[in-house]
Amino acid sequence: MAKSIAINAGSSSLKFTLFEMPEEKEIASGIIERIGLKDSIFTTKFNGEKYKVVEDIDDHEIGIQKVLDKLIELNVISSYDEITGVGHRVVAGGEYFKDSVLIDDDVLEKIESLSELAPLHNPANATGIRAFRKILPDITSIASFDTSFHTTMPKENYLYSIPMEYYEDFAARKYGAHGTSHKYVSEKAAKMIGKPLSETKIITCHLGNGASITAVKGGESIDTSMGFTPLAGVTMGTRSGDIDASLLPYLMEKLGLTDINDMINILNKKSGLLGLSGVSSDMRDVEEAAAEGNENAQTALDIFYNRVQKYIGQYIAILNGVDAIVFTAGIGENSKETREIIIDGMDWFGMKIDPEKNDVRGEERVISTDDSKIKVLLIPTDEEVMIARDIERLRKSN
Ligand code: ADP
Repeated sequence: MAKSIAINAGSSSLKFTLFEMPEEKEIASGIIERIGLKDSIFTTKFNGEKYKVVEDIDDHEIGIQKVLDKLIELNVISSYDEITGVGHRVVAGGEYFKDSVLIDDDVLEKIESLSELAPLHNPANATGIRAFRKILPDITSIASFDTSFHTTMPKENYLYSIPMEYYEDFAARKYGAHGTSHKYVSEKAAKMIGKPLSETKIITCHLGNGASITAVKGGESIDTSMGFTPLAGVTMGTRSGDIDASLLPYLMEKLGLTDINDMINILNKKSGLLGLSGVSSDMRDVEEAAAEGNENAQTALDIFYNRVQKYIGQYIAILNGVDAIVFTAGIGENSKETREIIIDGMDWFGMKIDPEKNDVRGEERVISTDDSKIKVLLIPTDEEVMIARDIERLRKSN
């Protein structure tokens, strides 16, 4: 029996999930928010109870110490060394990391060198890794990359139509994200439709605050909607998704901006559902406002559905067919309206939602009618269990 902990470190936050392996039983989970600020909030979930502490937590190392001490206090573990493995979620793995890896000095250095590709995330991920190595230096420590699953994309899908030397010299290409989630749900989907993974064509729609669509052929990602960074693709909570690059200098001039980073910041943080609706980045708020007659909120929803449909259409074309369409993540798992409207608008392809089966939240099930040519599936994602599995796999191979 082994206990493995999956870590997702952000610049001011740290999420954790503790598993008993190989049973894949989630024992405890939690989050520390506002690390480095006054009144950090540390919440732990264990045995159906929630424990919340508000106190100053100055850095990630102190945060991890607090997590481990809390696990002892709650009798989840009796000592630190009961934890045999840790897995860190890392956003950008570039072209180096095609799979999760055991962390050593070289890996850590590479993760930091990839910060250009994920300036908000990789430095924070590296901070989490360093802090854990200090406190538990001898346990199996792995990094799991959001981009790994997409390293199977063929050139025609990952290259932009810009001079080739920009790829060769600067690694300017599409990397995608949410890979662990797309992998998890596409594997589940193959089981649910009873086809060997190697023979499947699946389109996975990860619709959360961040959203991405992936075309999965024979268990491998062949294209995905996010790009060089997670800014590209469909409309998201606060991100614009795809736009014409020429709009940037035009808007900068109109807005009196001189720093391109300010423009990118608007596209990352003030656009998407939030920018269009003027209400919120949160789908629940936007749905509510639209139901109350807010026209811009309705337009935001219509654009969101439309962009997801366009990607599904594209991917049916490049896959040359599809067995199943999967909905996952916050919106995909919870908003039956989103699933229904997207699929109803594409019924020509032979996909049909069953309103009764679709009347559900966060439950793994087929939501299309029995006669639907293309199966539509709702599959709650679980990126943490994928990390825990990788810890076990790499621990044994070590
Ligand atoms: P992330 O992990 O990217 O932060 P999540 O996967 O948690 O995001 O998804 C968050 C999104 O899910 C929000 O837009 C939220 O409004 C939406 N969501 C959660 N529950 C519901 C619901 N019941 N109906 C509609 N949307 C929901």
